[in-house]
Amino acid sequence: MEPITENEIRASFVNCSKGDAKRLNVPRTLADTSWDELDFLGWTDPSYAGRAYLVVPRPDGPVGIAVRYETGGSDRAQMCTICMTMHSRGNVSLMTARKVGESGRKGNTVGTYMCTDLACPLYARGKKTPALGNRYRESLTPDERVERLQKNVDAFVDRLYT
Ligand SMILES: [Zn+2]
Repeated sequence: MEPITENEIRASFVNCSKGDAKRLNVPRTLADTSWDELDFLGWTDPSYAGRAYLVVPRPDGPVGIAVRYETGGSDRAQMCTICMTMHSRGNVSLMTARKVGESGRKGNTVGTYMCTDLACPLYARGKKTPALGNRYRESLTPDERVERLQKNVDAFVDRLYT
């Protein structure tokens, strides 16, 4: 993805209040981020356990999404539905996002099981190895895994608007 600034990140959020987007903790390491290895920027909030954020590049600009998750993750080995990495217990969480607009204000959410560290782009590229090891070998090349990840994360964002 293209590099984005803190201001662009704060302005990109679609499913939380402007105040929340202004106050949330943006990663302090933006300057050191290897943007060309990312399909989206994802991070957990260091101040609030169970809060995480994703910023996904879209044709009309970046879309920021605030999500909640149960800390501790799932109690068994599970697969991330975004990058399809198999993780040991605790390393995949059900990430729940409020929908965009009126539907979200009424309390409607969408959820997806996802790497708790939100490092899907690094797992897909083989830059990060799950604690389980890559014991579930796949026939896909890294490029194909990246393409699949992008489709999956796009589909997740689309669900926020339906
Ligand atoms: Zn993942």
